[in-house]
Amino acid sequence: MAEGPRYRPANSFETPRFSGIRTFMRLPHNQDLPNSDVAVVGAPFDTGATFRSGARFGPAGIRAASHLLRPYNPSLGVQVFDHLSVIDYGDVPVVPGYIEESYERIGAGLEELHRSGTLPIVLGGDHSIALPELRAAAAVHGPIALVQFDAHADTWDSYFGKQHTHGTPFRRAVEEGLLDTGRSIQVGMRGSLYEPADIEDSREMGFEVITTDEVRETGIPSTIERIRQRVGDAKVYVSFDVDFVDPAYAPGTGTPEIGGFTSRESQEFVRGLSGLRLVGCDVVEVYPAYDPAEITAFLAANVAHELLSMIALQRASALDPAVGGDSVG
Ligand code: MN
Ligand code: MN
Repeated sequence: MAEGPRYRPANSFETPRFSGIRTFMRLPHNQDLPNSDVAVVGAPFDTGATFRSGARFGPAGIRAASHLLRPYNPSLGVQVFDHLSVIDYGDVPVVPGYIEESYERIGAGLEELHRSGTLPIVLGGDHSIALPELRAAAAVHGPIALVQFDAHADTWDSYFGKQHTHGTPFRRAVEEGLLDTGRSIQVGMRGSLYEPADIEDSREMGFEVITTDEVRETGIPSTIERIRQRVGDAKVYVSFDVDFVDPAYAPGTGTPEIGGFTSRESQEFVRGLSGLRLVGCDVVEVYPAYDPAEITAFLAANVAHELLSMIALQRASALDPAVGGDSVG
């Protein structure tokens, strides 16, 4: 990283957390990529939604809720901004109603981040944005592993005769060769399907799939261990669809499925990934209009905070020759 300024949130002992413009965690808003290790990026797009709409307001909702977050993560023991210079990049450009044009713009914006070595934390947006995210990451890093937390596999072939929706991005990603499927894993699938093949299709594409029923049988620690085994030392993208979480804890989402995980369990899953070689991540499918008391936005902001903490730990160990490890990108 360049020897320029380091970016961190406003000091909440000097100005209250409810004050100021709503950037993520009260971070500076700029696009100074050479001086940023991590950029929080909004992708305010919901043209891919097949049921409810409104995820275009997800980034704004998550940013507003994120003002409550503090910089130290006691569970992971990391003072995030001691290790990372972080900006709120603002939003990548989108064209509402035009998915392929939006994909080009989202992908181009994110590719610039990857090329500069700035790791993106993308705030969605419906899950269709995962395809341009993965295109951008793969353009720089080559085929990458995917860890997807989601009630749905999002590997359907098409909806309404269209190839690009929030139910299809990971099938497209496999077809485009963006993923190292042998290192990729989908966790949390549950709820009614169209047919039995819906889950098997994912496995045939090469993904390991762990359904919610299976997690409930074997437990969260063993599931985390399976994820870590699967990914190994591959470069990995983590995609967190908030419908992974039960609608009691995440009601503000596009396609809710009952019988999911609690917010606490979701934190455990994300923390369990600490030490993996993250090259990018997202938190998607937050629909503020369906989100009483900002329940889902708080959850999503906290998931993003866990991911950020994990990146800080990764960076801390990479800088410590005693620990070894690989630099982020
Ligand atoms: Mn999804
Ligand atoms: Mn989903």
